[in-house]
Amino acid sequence: MRSVRVLVLLFGVVLLAAVQLSAQAQSHATANAVRAVRFGKLRDAKGKLWTNAIVIVDGTKIRSVGTDASAIPAGAEVIDLSAYTGLPGLIDVHTHMTMYTDETPGVPMLKQMLNTVPAVTVFLARKGAMRTLECGVTTVRDLGSDQYMDIAMRDLINRGEMIGPRMFVSGYGLYITNTPYKKPAVQPDGGIADGVPEVLRTVRQQVAAGADVIKLYASTGTDDDVTGFETYSYEEIKAAVDAAHGFGRKIAIHSYGPDGARDAVRAGTDSLEHATDMDDATIQEMVKRGTYYVPTIDHNRYYVDNGDKIGYAPGYKERLAAFIPRNLETARKANKAGVKFAMGSDAIYTMFGENTRELGWFVKAGMTPEQALRTATVNAAALLGKENSLGTVAPGFTADLVAIQGDPLADISDAIAKVKWVMKDGAVVVDHR
Ligand SMILES: [Zn+2]
Repeated sequence: MRSVRVLVLLFGVVLLAAVQLSAQAQSHATANAVRAVRFGKLRDAKGKLWTNAIVIVDGTKIRSVGTDASAIPAGAEVIDLSAYTGLPGLIDVHTHMTMYTDETPGVPMLKQMLNTVPAVTVFLARKGAMRTLECGVTTVRDLGSDQYMDIAMRDLINRGEMIGPRMFVSGYGLYITNTPYKKPAVQPDGGIADGVPEVLRTVRQQVAAGADVIKLYASTGTDDDVTGFETYSYEEIKAAVDAAHGFGRKIAIHSYGPDGARDAVRAGTDSLEHATDMDDATIQEMVKRGTYYVPTIDHNRYYVDNGDKIGYAPGYKERLAAFIPRNLETARKANKAGVKFAMGSDAIYTMFGENTRELGWFVKAGMTPEQALRTATVNAAALLGKENSLGTVAPGFTADLVAIQGDPLADISDAIAKVKWVMKDGAVVVDHR
């Protein structure tokens, strides 16, 4: 009796081991798969434009870039995208992936945000994540989330349990008591910090929770509120910047108006978000320090188009419509002065999939399509501190590739609206050919 049981047990163990082995072998095979991706044209983001390019992808990394078909290893899977222009996977440095809502009939999006429990929101947010990939964005920097939903989502994506862009997340953004920011679902909210000691504690809490980057709101202004009153003192901002840098984290500072922008820049922020009406001295300081400007012009266009569904009070259209030209004008001035830009959409609610429309505003602000594309590739990668692995199609880089119909270097709207195929980490995640 006992020996039969032992035999059954042994058989079970062997079976389990066999199943595990085959699963391992399978994932190993995927990880080691060699693919040759052919593009009619390829812009590698380092400034080189290839014709009839062949990108050899080995597992999750790019092995080589060239034009010699004899370099394709025997047995490699060939993906023929010779009808398209190839770009590196695009990077959006300002999203809120977990502020996801849908168009549930009759339920204003602001209300959905407050009435959905975090676990449900994270599950629903996979739809926004998929739409983000579909517009060619394979990496995001997510700047502000409640209940560490962003950390959960980042980890689920990294584990392969959810399909979405690679996320670098900030946990709670820091803001003062009484900022007209969205009411948190749970009190007290994890991001409130008044005075230098609380700022230090809150930065440390985000790092301890697993944040990749720190976010601080240095002015009023969000949704249909376009005021830009500075909310933090210079000393508080400087404390946040130094604490973030002390942990090897970068910091992104929100300011709708010029005062918060001025103090954020001289405190040493890595990027400045939104900032309108900046004075010349602040713009010059950004050039000198290499501060990245993320103007997020298009998100106010999205609010104008969708404010009724979001649930804004009447009068929002006029306010937002008056803010957009000031935002664009500040971007034009900063671009002319030589400030470095990174593309950030501030995507929220149902804006996912429209992330790259910001590039159209950059062209309006005076950039060539080539310069605009740099803001979503090499510049964005450098802002993330990932300039050696993301934002470029080159040997050793992560295999994130996008195929676009047409020529985005001639017409930026091709990059915005004609994404046909996307690879992330060597796996094809979108194929609309
Ligand atoms: Zn934002």
